[in-house]
Amino acid sequence: MSTRAEQHVADVLRREQLSPHLVRLTLGGDGLAGFETTGVPDEWVGLVVPGQFQSRYYTVRSWSGGELVLDVVVHDVGLVTEWASGDCVGDRVTITEPKGSFAMPDTAAWLLLVGDLTALPAMARIAETHAGTVPTRVWAEVPDLPEQLAGYLPDGPDVTWLGLADDGGSRLAAVVENLDWPEGEGYFWMAGESAQMRAIRKHLMRVRRLPSTAYDVMGYWRSVAARQPRSVDPGPIWRAGKAAGKSDEEIWADYDEAQR
Ligand SMILES: Cc1cc2nc3c(=O)[nH]c(=O)nc-3n(C[C@H](O)[C@H](O)[C@H](O)COP(=O)(O)OP(=O)(O)OC[C@H]3O[C@@H](n4cnc5c(N)ncnc54)[C@H](O)[C@@H]3O)c2cc1C
Repeated sequence: MSTRAEQHVADVLRREQLSPHLVRLTLGGDGLAGFETTGVPDEWVGLVVPGQFQSRYYTVRSWSGGELVLDVVVHDVGLVTEWASGDCVGDRVTITEPKGSFAMPDTAAWLLLVGDLTALPAMARIAETHAGTVPTRVWAEVPDLPEQLAGYLPDGPDVTWLGLADDGGSRLAAVVENLDWPEGEGYFWMAGESAQMRAIRKHLMRVRRLPSTAYDVMGYWRSVAARQPRSVDPGPIWRAGKAAGKSDEEIWADYDEAQR
C-alpha cells in the first residue's frame, strides 16, 4: 500500500482581508474534484505555494460547492505569510489530503476551546459543528482587536478574547493553568505555539490528571527567533502513530519532537 499522501492542484479564486492579521483564501478549480473532507471539524491540509517545495499546514475552514476556504494568519515573516500578503489570486497551489484530530467523546458534557489566531479557523468550525449540542467556551488569543474579528466565531459559545503578552508572545499556558473547569466530564481542545502546548500537556496530565481521550492539544507553530523551524508533515506521523495504536496526544508529542 502506498503511503504517499494524495495531492490536489487548486487555483486561488478569491482573497479577502478578514482582519489585519487574517486573510481568507478561497480555492477552487477542477483539481479539487476528488477532494473529500474527513468531516472532522479541525481537519487540516498541507499547502504548497508557487515556487516552493515545502508545505505549511492550514485548517479547512469550509469545503462547499467545490470551493475550499483557508484562513491564513499573516505574521512578520514566513513563506506562506509573504505569499498570502500579496495578490495571490489566480495562483496555482497544491494541497494534500485532509486529516483531522478532534475526537470529542459522545458522553462529553461540555467543550472548552483554547487557541491563538492560527487556531481560530478550527475553533470556529468546531463551534459551528458542536456548540449547538454541548455548552461551549472559547478563549481566543489574537493580535487583532475583538471588534476586527466580530462575527468570525458563530453565535452560541461563550467567548473570551485575549490580547498577546506585552512582548508579543503567547500566555495561553498561564490562562489554562488558571481556568475554572466545569463540573463533570467534557472535552478540551487547544492549539497554538508549541512551547505553550507542551506546558499544557504536562498540566493536563500531571495536575488535572485527565485521560488522553478527554483532550487534544496541538502545537501549530514554533516560535523560533534565530532559525527557521523545520517544516514537518504531520500526515505521515499521524498515520504511523495511528498504525502503532498511539493516542492523539502521543502523536502530537511526536510531531513536536520532529519539529525540533
Ligand atoms: C494542523 C495544523 C493546522 C493549522 N491551521 C492553521 C490555520 O488555519 N491558519 C494559520 O494561519 N495557521 C495554521 N497553522 C499554523 C501554520 O502552519 C504555521 O503558522 C506556519 O508556520 C505558517 O507558515 P509561514 O510560511 O507563514 O511561516 P514559516 O515560514 O513557517 O515561519 C517563519 C517564521 O515565522 C514564525 N511563525 C510561524 N507561524 C507564526 C505565527 N502564527 N505567528 C507568529 N510567528 C509565526 C516562525 O517561528 C518562523 O520564525 C496550522 C498548523 C497545523 C500543524
